[in-house]
Amino acid sequence: MPEETLDPQNWREFATLAHRMVDEMLHHLETLRDRPAWQEMPQDLKRRLLDEPVPMEPQGEAETYEQFKADVLPYPVGNLDPRFFGWVQGNGIPLGMMADMLASGLNPHVSGFNQAPALVETKVIEWLRQLFDFPEGASGLLVSGGSMASFTGLAVARNAMAGYDVRKAGLKGGPQLTVYGSTETHSWAKKAMEVLGLGSRAYKQIPVHKDFTMDLEALRTAVAADRKQGMRPIAVLATAGTVNTGASDDLEAIADFCQEEGLWMHVDGAFGALAYLSPKLKPAVKGLERADSLAFDLHKWMYLNFECACVLVRDGEHHRAAFDQNASYIAGMERGVIAGGLYLADLGLELTRSFKALKAWMSLKAYGVDKFVRVIEQNVDQAQYLAELVRAEPKLQLTAEVPLNIVCFRYVADLPGPRLNALNTEILLRLQEDGIAIPSSTQLGKKFCIRACIVNHRTRREDLDALVAGAVRLGDELVEEFRA
Ligand SMILES: *Cc1c(COP(=O)(O)O)cnc(C)c1O
Repeated sequence: MPEETLDPQNWREFATLAHRMVDEMLHHLETLRDRPAWQEMPQDLKRRLLDEPVPMEPQGEAETYEQFKADVLPYPVGNLDPRFFGWVQGNGIPLGMMADMLASGLNPHVSGFNQAPALVETKVIEWLRQLFDFPEGASGLLVSGGSMASFTGLAVARNAMAGYDVRKAGLKGGPQLTVYGSTETHSWAKKAMEVLGLGSRAYKQIPVHKDFTMDLEALRTAVAADRKQGMRPIAVLATAGTVNTGASDDLEAIADFCQEEGLWMHVDGAFGALAYLSPKLKPAVKGLERADSLAFDLHKWMYLNFECACVLVRDGEHHRAAFDQNASYIAGMERGVIAGGLYLADLGLELTRSFKALKAWMSLKAYGVDKFVRVIEQNVDQAQYLAELVRAEPKLQLTAEVPLNIVCFRYVADLPGPRLNALNTEILLRLQEDGIAIPSSTQLGKKFCIRACIVNHRTRREDLDALVAGAVRLGDELVEEFRA
């Protein structure tokens, strides 16, 4: 029997196909404006995709690629599009796409080892540490996303602040540990509390002010009350840029409070932290550099391709102490391939880790930090522009202030509250289904709002004109139906 491999049988033929993949994907990116922002996948195609049996026999590389082009490529959520403003989803950049290809081609195991790829990640973390004014001795890790970055920060906080050895004793070793966020804190926090064994009951969601920032008096009261009951408050989860409205907690005041109270300050800056890089926008998130741990995405407001996020931990020793292992099969050596050990795996949950650092390293070097800062500032200007359009249109109402890059608004008519919410829901869905633009939604108080979050380097002002014009036209067309 001849021995087999998964390398191409004919490298030249494969290279021709590979070049075609690159050319066609770049063409797809170049011509985004020729297509609707989103289109629903036809029912029969969905069924065909889901019903496909296990492929025991080969279909071939070229034919499989053709199927990707027909069945997958046209039907993503639309986040490449200049008119995509939904949730918090970046576009990715072509250089990032190519870097991911190179990273995947090289396919290194970035858990440490005596190799350049791990040093590239170390360098990227070091640049980020400097950009966010974290002290020397701070450590960090690239992870899949903001949720994982914040999870990592909270895991370090739990172990560092418990007052006993959680790694050995589990959570039975001492008093109930409590953690504080706000009612606007992202849902990662509840998930992390549950998975870390702290329990969602120990996660106290503090009310917010009218501007959606944490009420610090209420925080102070809650911490004092819990201490009185014999619980041990360990951490405050502050947010730089909430997912609903882009509000940022008073990070300086929270840092002061955590210092006074001996609490860990974790900042979730999934997208908002990036504002720190702009001298103009920095005041909105000032204080995050004082956090004990800071989580932010590079795949949101740094526009990099999924997945890429970072956690920075002020005290690198605490970081390592939460995750390091010394299994014999991965022990470091003085020399050779494993010299230095698996020092990156010792900073998080994952052992095998991809080379996501390459796209960050290449993009930062190719375009320079200032370019990213200019696009971030442009998004904030665009959000202000959109807010102005909404304010100038009597049929629309701005439903929250616009401190950063998120605009919440709704169509207004003299309808009872629930009918008005239903009308706005229909406007939102039609905007998406007609491929006009892709905002998402949120609920602020009793108001259903159309929500545009601009982390899009492709957006132009005309795209925001189209969103507003579309919302008004649909509202005008639909409003009579909702009077019935
Ligand atoms: C998006 C977001 C997260 C989660 O980040 P992922 O990268 O999606 O895991 C957490 N917090 C805030 C404020 C976010 O906007």
